[in-house]
Amino acid sequence: MLNKIKYYILEGTYEIKFISSFRRFKGIPIKGFIEPDTDTILINNNMSDSEKIITIIHEFLHEIKPNWSENQVEKKSLQLFRSMTSPDQLFFKKILKN
Ligand SMILES: [Zn+2]
Repeated sequence: MLNKIKYYILEGTYEIKFISSFRRFKGIPIKGFIEPDTDTILINNNMSDSEKIITIIHEFLHEIKPNWSENQVEKKSLQLFRSMTSPDQLFFKKILKN
């Protein structure tokens, strides 16, 4: 599953953007969001690196498994994050620097 997400990131049409303010969602603690029209994945920049990586995985899981509930997606995101190998971690750390 993680390989599929990495494939989506590398080969897909998605753009990941880190933003510090979710003005449209004032007062709601949004971690991440997909704009379906532009395939843009917005990630809240006010989080730790780990939280950002989990959120990126979370948002892509929504794309890969559109029928999964929010709970299923969140559970799987954490599980994938915890089972990441060192190359996986490096891959995601590089994305955070972009
Ligand atoms: Zn979600």
